[in-house]
Amino acid sequence: MGECIFCKIRDGEMRATVVHEDDEVMAFEDINPQAPTHVVIIPKRHIATMNDLDDGDAQLVGRLFLVAKDLAAKRGHAETGYRVVMNTNREAGQSVFHIHLHLLGGRPMRWPPG
Ligand code: AMP
Ligand code: ZN
Repeated sequence: MGECIFCKIRDGEMRATVVHEDDEVMAFEDINPQAPTHVVIIPKRHIATMNDLDDGDAQLVGRLFLVAKDLAAKRGHAETGYRVVMNTNREAGQSVFHIHLHLLGGRPMRWPPG
């Protein structure tokens, strides 16, 4: 956890372009954007993967989605469309082990994802 880059961003020890912050949730621009809008939305509390969530986290996970929805609307993607993704473990390509939603928007997207 001491090496977690998203905890460092949360603590202001690593620079990021923060676009939302409240008591429980933080959102910042992805450093390697895959779409015109690519925002990473994290709980402030360190949780390594989706597998580590339990019933007590239901409201927190809901908050992540509500922040994603608000940012998508703010950036004009509500009607055109956007995508929210949470990668879990190796085969999904999770590279930072502090759970996060990716909010992607601003271009057409294919399905299924690669
Ligand atoms: P994932 O591969 O699903 O774990 O997503 C991790 C995301 O974090 C990737 O899209 C990275 O580009 C992004 N990322 C890694 N380091 C940083 C950073 N320092 N600031 C912002 N985004 C980052
Ligand atoms: Zn962390």
